Amino acid sequence: MNLHHPQRADGGRTNRNEVGRNEVGRLEVITGPMFSGKSEELIRRLKRARIARQRVACYKPDIDLRYHRTSIASHGSQTHEAETVGNVERLREALAGQLDAIEVVGIDEAQFFDDGIIPLAVELVHLGKRVILAGLDTTFNAEPFGPIPALMALADEVTKLSAVCMVCGAPAIHTQRLGASQELVVVGAAGVYEARCRACFKPYLDENESQQMEFPAIQI
Ligand code: ADP
Ligand code: MG
Ligand code: ZN
Repeated sequence: MNLHHPQRADGGRTNRNEVGRNEVGRLEVITGPMFSGKSEELIRRLKRARIARQRVACYKPDIDLRYHRTSIASHGSQTHEAETVGNVERLREALAGQLDAIEVVGIDEAQFFDDGIIPLAVELVHLGKRVILAGLDTTFNAEPFGPIPALMALADEVTKLSAVCMVCGAPAIHTQRLGASQELVVVGAAGVYEARCRACFKPYLDENESQQMEFPAIQI
């Protein structure tokens, strides 16, 4: 489905207001490891947009079912209403139905969408939307995660957050998988993953090592 407005002379790449000025949107990416406050920051921005009487729509992939299908949630338990969508095509369809009614699009756990999220985000920006994406920048193997690196490159603004290393307390940029599983997607929170700094991060931690943590992960 094409999100471009069909009858615009410039091919729909930008909206123009009454004085002919371009009304382009904005792409904001909030990234960092797990527990760095990405969802918290996304929720904060969406709530502030609503205070400014802007109309907001929020989405998340249906892989993230930790809390609720109709909201996003942070580990600190802030929430915001959100629609769960199965993939980028479903997201496109969900947006197409209400594009005229919204000004701000929030997407959490954006790393779980495929690369189709990249042109979709850019299209929305050209339609004048403020697009705020939150997602992990690296996998538990410390490799760039899915579409997030490209989205960071294309963004107007990137907020790269750090968490607190659960071993030493330093700023943490890595997500440590506890236990032996090497599957990329094991959705969960404290106990399965924890934040680690560069010095304390071990890409292949085995089950025994995870028993020797100096401090247990905080259960939120
Ligand atoms: P993200 O979306 O990046 O995973 P959240 O916004 O869900 O992060 O959660 C951030 C909250 O998690 C913090 O405000 C804090 O209450 C809690 N928290 C738990 N463990 C940590 C940690 N190791 N470092 C920082 N915050 C943590
Ligand atoms: Mg989150
Ligand atoms: Zn550390």
